Amino acid sequence: MIVDKMKKRETSAKKTTSKVDIQVSKWLKCDKCKEILYKENVKNNLSICPNCGNYFRMSAKKRIELITDESTFLEFDLNIDNTNPLEMEDYVKKIAILREKTKVSEAVICGTGKINGLDSVICVMESKFLMGSMGSVVGEKITYSIEKAIELELPLIIVCVSGGARMQEGVISLMQMAKTTAALTKLHEKGLLYISLLTDPTYGGVTASFASLGDVILAEPGAMIGFAGPRVIEQTIGQSLPDGFQTSEFLLEQGFIDKIVERSNLKETLYKIIKFNKNSNEYKEKIIDSGKKRELNKVIESNKKTESVKKVELNNKIENKENITINNQNELTAWERVEIARSPKRKTALEYINTIFDEFIELHGDRSFKDDKAIVCGLAKIGNRNFTVIGEQKGRNVKENIERNFGMPNPESYRKAIRFMNQAEKFNRPVITFIDTKGAYPGLGAEERGQGEAIARSMFEMAKLKVPIIAIVIGEGSSGGALAIGVGNKVLMLENSIYSILSPEGYASILWKDSSRAKEAAEKMKLTAYDLLELEVIDKIITESSNIEDGFSKTCDQIRNEITQIIDEMSNLNKQEIVEQRYNKFRNIGKYQEINKR
Ligand SMILES: [Zn+2]
Repeated sequence: MIVDKMKKRETSAKKTTSKVDIQVSKWLKCDKCKEILYKENVKNNLSICPNCGNYFRMSAKKRIELITDESTFLEFDLNIDNTNPLEMEDYVKKIAILREKTKVSEAVICGTGKINGLDSVICVMESKFLMGSMGSVVGEKITYSIEKAIELELPLIIVCVSGGARMQEGVISLMQMAKTTAALTKLHEKGLLYISLLTDPTYGGVTASFASLGDVILAEPGAMIGFAGPRVIEQTIGQSLPDGFQTSEFLLEQGFIDKIVERSNLKETLYKIIKFNKNSNEYKEKIIDSGKKRELNKVIESNKKTESVKKVELNNKIENKENITINNQNELTAWERVEIARSPKRKTALEYINTIFDEFIELHGDRSFKDDKAIVCGLAKIGNRNFTVIGEQKGRNVKENIERNFGMPNPESYRKAIRFMNQAEKFNRPVITFIDTKGAYPGLGAEERGQGEAIARSMFEMAKLKVPIIAIVIGEGSSGGALAIGVGNKVLMLENSIYSILSPEGYASILWKDSSRAKEAAEKMKLTAYDLLELEVIDKIITESSNIEDGFSKTCDQIRNEITQIIDEMSNLNKQEIVEQRYNKFRNIGKYQEINKR
């Protein structure tokens, strides 16, 4: 059948090629118009179907060729390799095979290049490498690039293509969302331009972090872009999605992207946006220019040096780890803790808030769409100290759970939280967040109103907030929906709470195509407080008694003492130091090591 089709196409292909002996590997089928196409023709047409205009995915290398001036792209010499934080047996092997097969070292290529003569820092993600998923190397490379853009005072361009955070690296991948977002707050504060280009597909943790944070967000025609995948949404809402849902055109209409750009216009569009941004300080640019060039060369040369310093830091970190003694008296399995964390009897955010604080008043609304009750916000006091409190709120029974959307926030919940964070800064109040969610709600309306953007924006605001933030995981801390309010100076976890990239069921389903292996996944995911302390994702464990009722007031006392103590300690810090402390905490998550050089 395939051969027949090929023969049929062979004659029409002759228009552009004289080759007669055509091999199977030279053909591909267009998903959209189902035509069998000669690969060379597609390649010469910017990887666009000559028949129907469908966009095929473009390799990172091709994309760099497309947008930069010839021979101007200099890749950052970052010899970093991923460690295997969850110690998954086949992961290292898989990476090695992929490298061999794709001839690319990771899911992103980063460097500097000229666009019609204008210097930029450019990161291009690669779909051929685990669907552009973000693990610690991708997070590190993107963060490094953002920091280079700041150092060199250059505009930043990130071309996104990604299925989201990388499952194989678990919570370390999740934390890369906070790390990259925090770096972008620094770029923002330097007044530098960031252009994000969304290509097919851009989903999950990438949508919910740097992809949605561009000063200008561009997208390719027909690209699929969203937070939750279409299948997950359909399963959640029990109906099929409308045509064109989550396409670039849909996002343009919903107001989440600035412009859809054809590939043939991409370089010119990027050039214009950079140029428009430059006009305001033309004079200043001219003076800096020659110095900047010197600086650029210096930086490229010093990359190797920086890397060896990082390696030493890593080794020190590992050595120090041996000194961490964990007093794990209560030997529960990870799965048992998952069950405790999810128990309907477990105390909810409001119960903690009302017990920990002397006074609390809840306030409502995002001032834009509605008051989503999956997150509660308000003002609270311990003694004379004022706090802003934000908590993910589950219900205790069916009625309450419906009202609270089972503790799964919609975008307006995060936007409400952002409003309260900004107010906290204005009135110099520390922010205390309580994390307890299965994840952000994967619904149709949630996508329409920009779930990914809301999560990204919440992390962005937290990363630059000039007051102390303490995040406390009290139950289920799952996915970007939890991390959205988790960017704290200090992150505490209750002993029987969990914190992970995804639910164990979702994890098993994605990685092994079998959600019934959730129990096994839980053991591998390193989602317990003890695992996360060891991975340095959290700062402290609050112990819990096995008796929920009896232990509750003791646990609350401990949390109250921790809050008071941390705020006391932080009272010596000025605003900038508060931001830096938080930045460094997330900057250091995600280990990396140098590839052994021969
Ligand atoms: Zn086509």
